[in-house]
Amino acid sequence: MRSELRGGRFELVQITSLPQLVPSRVCLSCDVCCRFPEPDSFLRPYFTADEIRRAVARGVDLTHFPDPHGCQVNVVPNPVGDGYLCPAFDPATSHCRIYEMRPLDCQIYPLAVMWNADRSQVVLGWDSTCPFMRDTVPSDIKTYADRVAGLLEREDTLEVFTKNPRLIGRFQKDVAILWPLPCLTERLAPSQPAAVLHPLTLADRARVERSSASIVTPLAAYAFAPHFIWRGVFSYWWADMAEHHCLFAEHADGIFMPLPPLGTEPMATPNPQAFAEAFAFMRRRNRGSAVSRVENVPEEWKPALEALGYRLVSKDPDYLYRASDLADLTGDRYKSQRAACNRFVRDHGGNRHRYEPYQETDREACLSLYRTWAAQQEARNLDAVARHMLTDSGSAHQEALSHHRALGLIGRVVRIDGEIRAYTFGFERSPSVFCILLEVADRGIQGLAQYLFREFCREAVGRGYEFINTMDDSGLPSLARSKNAYHPFRLVPNYIVTER
Ligand code: SF4
Repeated sequence: MRSELRGGRFELVQITSLPQLVPSRVCLSCDVCCRFPEPDSFLRPYFTADEIRRAVARGVDLTHFPDPHGCQVNVVPNPVGDGYLCPAFDPATSHCRIYEMRPLDCQIYPLAVMWNADRSQVVLGWDSTCPFMRDTVPSDIKTYADRVAGLLEREDTLEVFTKNPRLIGRFQKDVAILWPLPCLTERLAPSQPAAVLHPLTLADRARVERSSASIVTPLAAYAFAPHFIWRGVFSYWWADMAEHHCLFAEHADGIFMPLPPLGTEPMATPNPQAFAEAFAFMRRRNRGSAVSRVENVPEEWKPALEALGYRLVSKDPDYLYRASDLADLTGDRYKSQRAACNRFVRDHGGNRHRYEPYQETDREACLSLYRTWAAQQEARNLDAVARHMLTDSGSAHQEALSHHRALGLIGRVVRIDGEIRAYTFGFERSPSVFCILLEVADRGIQGLAQYLFREFCREAVGRGYEFINTMDDSGLPSLARSKNAYHPFRLVPNYIVTER
């Protein structure tokens, strides 16, 4: 409670300056700051050794500091009222006598640095008992706190906290938590046992699917196959943190999480401890690079994660359709897709074409078709992103074709005159949502892609699925156009979470 008379500039450990957020008129009308109800109040300001030296040079008696290396100041009885005063406080003028040299602890007030409730994280909070808290807009506070958080996590300030760990206050319910302070946490939290990373193998499918079932979202990423097929591009690992399953993907730039930490019981909200541990692990492993992130976070978790101080940005949404729309293709809005299917059936009718399950023996023929299809795609004048994705996708198709059963994939092919000319793979996300993961169709055969898609969706309807998820469009305009042409029922929001 030390915000009294913060006129002039905000000077943080003599390093930089910030504008004062709380107006002087508010401070002057408050009779709480710098005054304490008990002599041993834990709200007494903490002075570092340097701050003690500066205070003493300004006339505060050294006897008020029981430890010259750093301590909370000893308060004195209030000569004109109840309780106790900071010895630097002048009750006659209601001014701090060392205002220009007041300690960091006082400078940041009404922000406060403290431990969270379970002492796993150092956080920046706002003292809700400060009158200014009640008559200002939260966005102002957050912008200001964001700036202070950046200063607190600077190397020179971290040094001050490392030498003076008691500058971090204990958890107080009256202090509203604004942001976690990850660098301070890393310096000062009791060291966590090193996470044990296990390479992700096909045998881990049940583990990933069990944890994916703990969250209700139609996002296609909550399954094993859409990650594992990319093991030619990323190295996948898993670890248990705070009793939550954590999936990590690593490439040359560093490690990130393609899914948030997930439990085995239904989760309506994210687990703060698991998020904190996972980010601390990524921060250490990535040595502070910006790669550390958690992807595929559903919209339902956005408020809770923002309240914990994480930053969320949108990534490409999933396209979710009513399965019956795609199976029936009725009405004017599906006229072109219906015509394409009819054209295919007309051109390859009778016994010429067959839509049937994928078998292991089809692998080589499908790989050959993939190579033809990739060459057709390349000939289409793709932009750099699409070309890069095409290069990477070869290994993903190989994985699906080689391990479709172990991955839990359902595969279908279309043969024309006995030769495979299209294939597709999908998987169940939930009893109501079926996801389509891959689709390849010879572009030289008109209507084939539309026919394969419709037949797969018809089968999904027959199996009782209400929705089809065709995943995101990877930011590719041509893919977005073709997905939108099927009139999605909903675009499912999807977020990337990073630390501030
Ligand atoms: S040092 Fe100054 S601002 Fe801090 S509690 Fe004492 S009188 Fe108040």
